[in-house]
Amino acid sequence: MKNNRKHLFSLIAIFALMANVVIAQEMKPEETEDWSRKPEAVQLSGKNKVPSDALVLFSKGNLDSWIANDGSEAKWKVKGSAFTVEPGTGEIKTKESFGSCQLHIEWNSPKEDFKAGKTGQGCGNSGIFLMGIYEVQVLNSFEMETYYNGQASSIYKQHIPLVNASLETGKWQTYDIIFTAPEFEGEGENFKVLKPAYVTVIHNGVLVQNHVELKGPTEYIGHPKYRWHANKLPISLQDHSNRVSYRNIWIRNL
Ligand code: MG
Repeated sequence: MKNNRKHLFSLIAIFALMANVVIAQEMKPEETEDWSRKPEAVQLSGKNKVPSDALVLFSKGNLDSWIANDGSEAKWKVKGSAFTVEPGTGEIKTKESFGSCQLHIEWNSPKEDFKAGKTGQGCGNSGIFLMGIYEVQVLNSFEMETYYNGQASSIYKQHIPLVNASLETGKWQTYDIIFTAPEFEGEGENFKVLKPAYVTVIHNGVLVQNHVELKGPTEYIGHPKYRWHANKLPISLQDHSNRVSYRNIWIRNL
């Protein structure tokens, strides 16, 4: 009885395999070609290789795309092709609002903090706040230690980076961030999270956050919990009293 059953299963398996071969033989290669959407051609321009479909948020000269958090003019210092946090003037944010996006940004930790012997969260601290509330940490983490979910390229207090790809103090570093905005149902107090936010971060060409799920806004104190917000919001940069510099910032809406 047992043997009979075994034979039956073997026969079924052989028939299934043959059927597959027949179907594959009957199909033509063209049947699995997809011509429904032609990818738009994108050119890379200039020294910074900015994609032609990107919006440049800073290249040089002025902070025209940015304002202070209170709506007044951004008071950070621009020098040539970079700008620097002016401690005490508060964070700055983009005039335009963004949801899901690809963001390229370059930053540099100040030597003055390092020379002054600052450590941990006090050395070259700033941050990139996607939608103004989800922080990718900017910090001098080259041979420096702090809590690991608070070091450079951490999703602040939510995700430790896979590796520490930090360069030494004074070197320009890059972040390439792919952010998927959360989706909510309802509005205001009565809302449900349909889809959480996700973020991928490449630090100096090295993958450090691989499509990690955000548990809510990145909080300094307490556990994160989603709050309802609009589907597009400005990106902000943190003034944490350290003269961190930024340059070559561009964004692509996804
Ligand atoms: Mg920070």
